[in-house]
Amino acid sequence: MSVKLKEVNQMLHQMVVDFAEKEIKPLDMIIDKEQGYPKDLWDKIVQTGFLGLTVPYLYDGAQFDAVAEAQTIFDVASRNASVAFTLEGHYKAANQIIKYGNETLKKKYLPQANRRVFAFSSTEPQGGSNVLGLSGTAIKDGDCWVLNGNKSMITNGGLAEVYCVLLKTGPEEISCFVVDKEMIGFKYGKQEELFGMRGTPVGEIFLENVKVSEDHLLGTLGQGIEIGHNAHADARINMGAIAAGISEHALSIVLEYAKTRKALDTPIINLYSIQQKITEIAIAKENTQLLYEEAAKLKDSGKPYDRVATMAKSYGSRASFDACDHALQVLGGYGYSTEYPVEHLLRDARALQIAEGSLEKMVIEIAQAVVKERE
Ligand SMILES: Cc1cc2nc3c(=O)[nH]c(=O)nc-3n(C[C@H](O)[C@H](O)[C@H](O)COP(=O)(O)OP(=O)(O)OC[C@H]3O[C@@H](n4cnc5c(N)ncnc54)[C@H](O)[C@@H]3O)c2cc1C
Repeated sequence: MSVKLKEVNQMLHQMVVDFAEKEIKPLDMIIDKEQGYPKDLWDKIVQTGFLGLTVPYLYDGAQFDAVAEAQTIFDVASRNASVAFTLEGHYKAANQIIKYGNETLKKKYLPQANRRVFAFSSTEPQGGSNVLGLSGTAIKDGDCWVLNGNKSMITNGGLAEVYCVLLKTGPEEISCFVVDKEMIGFKYGKQEELFGMRGTPVGEIFLENVKVSEDHLLGTLGQGIEIGHNAHADARINMGAIAAGISEHALSIVLEYAKTRKALDTPIINLYSIQQKITEIAIAKENTQLLYEEAAKLKDSGKPYDRVATMAKSYGSRASFDACDHALQVLGGYGYSTEYPVEHLLRDARALQIAEGSLEKMVIEIAQAVVKERE
C-alpha cells in the first residue's frame, strides 16, 4: 500500500486482507482450473458487504471512496485476479447508477447492488472498440422503451442480474438503459471459455423486445457515450489495481520460491539474474500502484481522472504481463507447469490489454489527452 489510508479505509483494508487470505487465496488455483467460483465463496463475498462498497448510505451501502474501492480490488487481486475482476465489473455498473441514475432507479437498484451482481455492457459480437458502430436499439413506445440487441463479452455476463446497456436511440445517438434479468425478453447467451481470468464469467445476453419504463434510461437521452466513457475511466482505475495485484501475487510467489530453490549450492535469490527479475516485478507493481492511486485520489477530489486512469491500465496491463513472465522464468520449469500458479497469473494479466478498451485504443486516447492538455 503506497497511499496513507484514512482510518476508516484502513479498517476496511484490514478486513479485506483477512477475508481474502482466509477465503480467496486457498482457492486461487481451483478457481482457474474449475473455471468458476465455488458457490459458497460467492455467498460469503455477498455477506461481507463487498458489493455495496461505494453505494451511498442513503441506499443502504457503505459509501466508501474510490481510493478504498481500488485498495479493495488490489487486496483481492493479489490473492486471485478473477474475483477482483468480477468485483470491478460490478462496481463499474453500480457506480454509473450512483452517478447518473434518477431517483426512482437509484431507490430501486442501489440497495440491490449489495446482494445482486451488476454488469456494464457495450460490446456486441461485431465489435467493441467503436461504440458508434453498435447495432442494438432502444425505440420509444408511448411511455416505455423497447430494447433489442445482442451484447457480448460482458464481465459477469451470466452471473450478473442487472445490466447497464448501451443502445442506439438514433442513427448517431447512444443512450444507456438499466435492464434486469427478470424482464420479459431478457435471455442469457453463451459463456466464453477464456484464456485467463477463468473464474470470471464473461458472457452474452440477448434483449428481445424488452419493455422498460422511462425511468430505466440512465442519465439523459444521448448521454450513452459519456456514460460509457465514465464507466471506462472508473473501471481503468480498478484495472490498474488488478494489474498491480497480479504483480504483487507474482512477487510473493517468486520471493518464497527463490529463497529455497538452490543452484550452485546457494539459494537462487542470491543470483544477480534472479535479483534483476525481482526488481523488475517490484517496479512494475509500485509504478502501477502509484498511477491507479493517483487516479483514485483525483476522482475523490472531483478532478478529471480519465487520463491517469487510462495510463494506470495501459501501463499496468503491460507491466503486469512482463512481471508474470519474469516470475515464470524465476521458477524455471515449474513456472511453466500448472503445479504453480504463475502460468495462470500470466494468462490472467493478458486480459488487461483487451478488456475496458484495447491497448491500441488507449494509446490513441492518452496521446489525444496529452496533446490537448498542452495546447
Ligand atoms: C475478459 C474480458 C472482459 C470484457 N468485459 C467487457 C464488459 O464488461 N463489457 C463490455 O462491453 N465489453 C467487455 N469486453 C469486451 C472488450 O471491451 C472488447 O473486447 C474490446 O473493447 C475490443 O473490442 P473487440 O474485441 O470487438 O475488438 P475489435 O474492436 O474488433 O478490435 C480488434 C483489434 O483492432 C484494434 N482496433 C479497433 N479499432 C481500432 C482503432 N480505432 N484504432 C486502433 N486499433 C483499433 C483493437 O485494438 C484490436 O486489436 C471484455 C473483453 C474481455 C477479453
